[in-house]
Amino acid sequence: MRNVIIIGSGPAGLTAAIYAGRANLAPLVIAGMEQGGQITLTDDLENYPGFAEGVKGFELYQILEKQAQRFGAEILYDVVTQVELQGPVKKVKTADEEFEARVVIIATGSTPKKLHVPGEKEYIGKGVSYCATCDGFFYKGKHVAVIGGGNSAMDEGLFLTRFADKVTIIHRRDRLRADAILQQRAFDNEKIEFIWDTVVEQVLGDKLVIGLKLKNIKTGVMTEFPVDGVFVFIGHFPNVEIFTGQIKLNESGYIDTNNRTFTNIAGVFACGDVQDNIYRQAITAAGSGCQAAMEAEKYIAAQQGQSYPGK
Ligand code: NAP
Repeated sequence: MRNVIIIGSGPAGLTAAIYAGRANLAPLVIAGMEQGGQITLTDDLENYPGFAEGVKGFELYQILEKQAQRFGAEILYDVVTQVELQGPVKKVKTADEEFEARVVIIATGSTPKKLHVPGEKEYIGKGVSYCATCDGFFYKGKHVAVIGGGNSAMDEGLFLTRFADKVTIIHRRDRLRADAILQQRAFDNEKIEFIWDTVVEQVLGDKLVIGLKLKNIKTGVMTEFPVDGVFVFIGHFPNVEIFTGQIKLNESGYIDTNNRTFTNIAGVFACGDVQDNIYRQAITAAGSGCQAAMEAEKYIAAQQGQSYPGK
């Protein structure tokens, strides 16, 4: 039986692996479908501490993985299909194998919702972004579109006005979902304009994004709208499917971790974006991965008769 299985290989999972490895727990990381998680969607990460010149998202993933392996973490490039988490022995299954562990750390992240229109996938990292904090800096003096009408779209749209000359928020209805205070800030900002009742039909590009094909859903009129970049904020979904019926979720559908990394099941901890719908940063995910591994260490020590302060 393993001490710790970590499900997910983004900054949360790999930081948990570094800490669990250094605690001599020889963790097994099951990397999942999108190895490295959302950071690999970002070309340059300029806000991850320790990299004064920035770091490529994929490169950071490789560094974290190497660092975890250095301390004895084993990385399995496979996808977890099923878990049985109750009781002292947790079972984690992939299509071909079954593992047992004292502790499971869930770090499966969240996935930004996509528009699912032609051009979107092709231009990710070339003008299509799901993170203003990560990519806003590249749009100094430019014109960007923000898709969505919720708090994220307003928050991130406002953030983008620090760089872009113009931010056009494109929303599918004629009313925003965002909190009143954020709506007001957006309406008051001279750099922000709105296009209502409109959806994106296609992302247009050459080597980089050059515009959007838009459709007014009330009139049916199609237009081409030139922009230098498009930021999509139409929500995220936490990757919790395999835990359904076992792990308690909060009202937003994320894993409820009681403001720390505890789940409702003893010996199961959660970290990173799967339990955080507020900050969603690589560094906050890494921080919570560290916390989860430290809790795992204490939990295992307690099982072996040492004192454990618990929740
Ligand atoms: P959200 O509240 O679910 O809003 C998503 C927005 O995207 C909605 O306006 C929705 O339109 C639109 N949308 C969804 N699917 C779309 C599609 N296929 N095409 C075009 N538009 C689409 O998501 P969120 O803004 O990411 O916020 C998630 C949670 O985090 C919320 O609970 C939010 O309050 C919280 N949050 C809080 C803050 C803050 O307090 N500062 C900041 C960020 C996030 P409809 O309105 O028509 O449904």
